[in-house]
Amino acid sequence: MRVDERGTLAFLEAPEQVSLREYDVPAPEPGAVLTEVVRANVCGSELHIWSGDHPLIRDGVLGHEALCRVVALGDGVETDYAGTPIEVGDYVVPAYFATCGHCAQCGAGRFRLCENAYKYWSRPPGREPHFHGTFGTHYYIHPDQFFYRVPDGIDEGVAAAANCALAQVLCGFDVVGVSWEDTIVVQGAGGLGLNAVAVAKEAGADVVVIDGVAGRLDLAADFGADHLIDLTELDTIDERAEEVQSLTDGLGADVAVEVTGVPDAFTEGIELLRDGGRYLEMGNIIPGRETTFEPGVMTRKSITVESLMRYDPWYLGKAIEFLARRAGAYPFEEVLDAEFPLEDVETALEWSRDRSVARATLVP
Ligand SMILES: [Zn+2]
Ligand SMILES: [Zn+2]
Repeated sequence: MRVDERGTLAFLEAPEQVSLREYDVPAPEPGAVLTEVVRANVCGSELHIWSGDHPLIRDGVLGHEALCRVVALGDGVETDYAGTPIEVGDYVVPAYFATCGHCAQCGAGRFRLCENAYKYWSRPPGREPHFHGTFGTHYYIHPDQFFYRVPDGIDEGVAAAANCALAQVLCGFDVVGVSWEDTIVVQGAGGLGLNAVAVAKEAGADVVVIDGVAGRLDLAADFGADHLIDLTELDTIDERAEEVQSLTDGLGADVAVEVTGVPDAFTEGIELLRDGGRYLEMGNIIPGRETTFEPGVMTRKSITVESLMRYDPWYLGKAIEFLARRAGAYPFEEVLDAEFPLEDVETALEWSRDRSVARATLVP
């Protein structure tokens, strides 16, 4: 199969230095899929990479969230990873990481911890097949990368976000366990936080959201948050803990989810939980950022702490299923508030960092 075409991609050469490069579009090897990018979103971890804060990735082709259209299928590819038949022209979402199936973690069934997860992501663009990130005209899905067909009827921008925030939240909530009996505190109403509100409401939980930005709190309310705590009004941990207690008959929350990326939020989350509560840590990933923490509080309260990066790759299929059935119940499309052409990728990143846009999307 030959694809005679040139494509463009965004290459991060050094922190905050992005250039657009052109390469020949590769034909897919057996088991791989060549796609065109329909939309790619700028998420929080993309900003960490761009500014040089990411723990693992320093340079390379940018972009990891995307909705793609199949251009060519490698030999042997007949279905997605759920067994749904796949054809040229179909919309798909790929997991942004690999699941090799051959490392010690994969061998033990801990797929989200695959030791080779980032073997393709963010490689230098000169290395074939060039299109290692989603900020470009094309994206190459390798044979060991899960991908799922996107059915008609899901908003394009919303589908593009499925392979990061929603899939991770669905996986995280299964790890920590959430039910209708729980009061759950979501610390931070960014991309992960709003998805967490939606998934917690689906479970029937009572949801408390803490944030300090009015627009984000409004969005959390639109997603169905039952109680909002504004950091600018209740500006001490004690006041916020008291508020959570008053909402839970003096007990504290059953579950808390940290999705702010602020180290002190971890310490606070432990305070907000009831004895025997469960904590899900997903936001703090940047090395070298610390918080003062008294471990005895956690022990005395017998808190269970779970944490995760990425997700087991089949959660991407669940995320698409969730959107197909339930996206209409939540204002997912309101989260994406700005669209940029690929040439303006630097503006999209700068405006996202400065928070003049909440979630930018790139349209090649
Ligand atoms: Zn592996
Ligand atoms: Zn992301």
